[in-house]
Amino acid sequence: MTKELPIISPDKFHDECAVFGVFGHEEAANLTYLGLYALQHRGQEASGIVAGDGEQFFVQKGMGLVADIYHKSVLDKLPGHMAIGHNRYSTAGGNDLKNVQPLIVNFALGNLALAHNGNLINAQVLRNELEAYGAIFQSTSDSEVIIHLIAHSKADSFLARVIDALSQVRGAFSIVLMTDNGLIAARDPHGLRPLCIGRLHSSWIVASETCAFDLLDAEYVREIEPGELIVISDQGLDSHRPFPKMNPAMCVFEYVYFARPDSRIFGANAVYATRKALGRQLAQESWVPADVVIPVPDSGVPAALGYAEGGGIRFETGLIRNHYVGRTFIEPEQSIRHFGVKVKLNAVPEVLYGKRVVVVDDSLVRGTTSRKIVKMIRQAGAKEVHMRISSPPIISPCFYGIDTPTKKELIASDHSTEEIRKYITADSLAYLSLDGMLKSAPGTPDQYCNACFTERYPIPFTRAEELQLGLFESAH
Ligand code: AMP
Ligand code: SF4
Repeated sequence: MTKELPIISPDKFHDECAVFGVFGHEEAANLTYLGLYALQHRGQEASGIVAGDGEQFFVQKGMGLVADIYHKSVLDKLPGHMAIGHNRYSTAGGNDLKNVQPLIVNFALGNLALAHNGNLINAQVLRNELEAYGAIFQSTSDSEVIIHLIAHSKADSFLARVIDALSQVRGAFSIVLMTDNGLIAARDPHGLRPLCIGRLHSSWIVASETCAFDLLDAEYVREIEPGELIVISDQGLDSHRPFPKMNPAMCVFEYVYFARPDSRIFGANAVYATRKALGRQLAQESWVPADVVIPVPDSGVPAALGYAEGGGIRFETGLIRNHYVGRTFIEPEQSIRHFGVKVKLNAVPEVLYGKRVVVVDDSLVRGTTSRKIVKMIRQAGAKEVHMRISSPPIISPCFYGIDTPTKKELIASDHSTEEIRKYITADSLAYLSLDGMLKSAPGTPDQYCNACFTERYPIPFTRAEELQLGLFESAH
């Protein structure tokens, strides 16, 4: 009976990640280190690099930031012409190195390492089935399911096994696999998470975002397409389209918040420009007379510039961020998060005193940050505080790899904008409309996933998945 299946802890979905891979460079591990350094914003809890010389894998993993984990002495022990790496947000399963990717196995066909960005919605269902057949899991990571499916596949070649495995998983995957022969990079048929390919002289590079290429002076080649699988080996690059074609559902939240503004994602050179356009649109939709527009740094900066430009109001820096504190969002306890906002941001009274202030942030999740910020701005002497959010209310969790709390904790899931305004104690609060957000992003609105704003999940859940993802109540 599906009803007896365990509900996955919400921690499982805290899976923001970066993936990176290099093939054909004698300093593959060093390049991977640099790539992961540039991709630090996609995950700060743990990181791992696996390098390969065609016969053996060499591994380094650790908890914490890239700069703290890899020292020269460590990188010197990672020889080989290929490497893959991963930065992980999640602490699912505790501070256990077993959950830190790349996951590595040695099975009948040799060495295999996997780095995965995204979440699989049927991971637990597949895991239960695999365990019933005797599979022994090493970690609590849903990505390990892919490895077991490859190992258990009856297909006759390694590539066929990978395709067989990836055809069974549902959800978001941008993955890089490494074997003794080369790399395989693949993106799920909806293209939920970004993944792109670049070149550095004669070597190939794969990364979640192009800011990793820029640091290496590598050249951007192209986005790996939704549903595309690329084999990278001594023979060069070989592209496959093994999965049934699906409607694209790229994560619009990558544009709103997650990707670095200097990156190119989803084939468009437009993260920064999109964020500005979101702000301009917001000014059009909810202009308010004010003396200054200030961003919540750093995430709100481009949108605030757009709002100021579009609304004809002076842009100022009214909040200063301490860059040496991690993102408040990743603090595990509510009590620490409250504390974290104060540690992280401080107001500039000379900008705010006696002013009517518009504060722009990219998103409002629990409302805790906005509440603290409004209070801080008032304490600095502001006359009015108007909160503007450059995305619509987040009403439902992401099951595809962006860390959002449970529905219950999402303040907009059961509070009106007026109730939230009262909670954050602002004089006014306005969100960007769904249409306004979608028309500010490149391409057409129907190419994006917007489920956290609309509850319209692009991949239908089976009954067993609903139960396991804790969706039962909201879906029925
Ligand atoms: P909250 O206090 O929960 O409303 O958090 C809102 C803040 O969290 C905003 O400043 C956002 O930039 C930031 N934020 C939104 N989504 C995420 C995320 N997935 N991870 C980390 N921070 C986030
Ligand atoms: Fe992105 Fe939201 Fe869709 Fe998750 S639910 S993939 S955060 S748009």
